Amino acid sequence: EAKRAGRSTLRFFDPQMQRAVDERAQLEAGLRDALAHREFLLVYQPVMGPGEEVRGVEALVRWAHPQRGMVSPAQFIPLAEETGLILPLGRWVLHTACSLLAQWQHQSARAHLTVAVNVSSRQFRDAGFVDEVLRVLAETGAPAARLKLELTESLLVEDVPATIATMEALCAHGVGFALDDFGTGYSSLAYLKRMPLAQLKIDQSFVRDLLSDPSDAAIVRTIIALAASLDLEAVAEGVETAEQREWLAAAGCSGYQGYHFSRPLPRDRLERWLDGAPPV
Ligand code: C2E
Ligand code: MG
Ligand code: MG
Ligand code: MG
Repeated sequence: EAKRAGRSTLRFFDPQMQRAVDERAQLEAGLRDALAHREFLLVYQPVMGPGEEVRGVEALVRWAHPQRGMVSPAQFIPLAEETGLILPLGRWVLHTACSLLAQWQHQSARAHLTVAVNVSSRQFRDAGFVDEVLRVLAETGAPAARLKLELTESLLVEDVPATIATMEALCAHGVGFALDDFGTGYSSLAYLKRMPLAQLKIDQSFVRDLLSDPSDAAIVRTIIALAASLDLEAVAEGVETAEQREWLAAAGCSGYQGYHFSRPLPRDRLERWLDGAPPV
């Protein structure tokens, strides 16, 4: 009986599934040592204001895997969240981004720039999160008012009072908040107005086909109107063409980010880009 059950279970164990399991196990093992081996790096994408001036940058993590080359955060962030490695990784990201802010504050041409850091729900929900951010700001000497934290809509679904309390604790020190990938999750509009938010980031999936898909265009207009009525900025992600940028400007968008302006760049190339030199 047991033998038969065993055999029928085996039928579902196809080689392709096995490969996926192995690959995940390998990535996970590598991820555990990647911090110690200094395999992570940050790249920075410029964020433009309504007049196309540079307002700041968004820090995006990359994993330079010794065998696989660059691994996308879409692949390893979910894994890091499941395993809890997001906590030390997130701390490293925050520390690295704040070190950059601390240095920029002494450079007159860059002192006004903000740095946005993506924060995963697991990290944000950690009991020590507020203290950790304040400690990193103190350790690096970064100005809190130049730090922006990007949260996802999943934080607006459960334990909203705790989310608001954490945001308010950091807001009191000047830290700003944006809601990332807006429109893809399940935000309660009733909660939106109670949060100390500064920005809604319009998800790139709506921006991509803006000019050809009337429903995407309608969604973007709706988000811009919603942001305006809540006194928030609407920043479009994934702006790839001048036509998209013009459409968004006419619709009243407050900021832009995307390959049309610049890809995410390593720090040295970003600083050259900021100085007006085309990145090499
Ligand atoms: P996100 O925060 O929404 O970041 C925007 C993503 O869009 C980035 O992908 C960026 O490279 C990409 N992008 C920017 N402009 C364009 C464009 O014009 N066209 C297209 N097609 N894509 C564009 P990336 O760097 O692969 O990051 C993916 C996601 O991984 C991020 O989405 C964010 O959710 C997460 N992530 C990245 N870095 C971190 C981090 O340090 N911590 C956490 N928790 N998550 C991170
Ligand atoms: Mg983001
Ligand atoms: Mg986004
Ligand atoms: Mg995203």
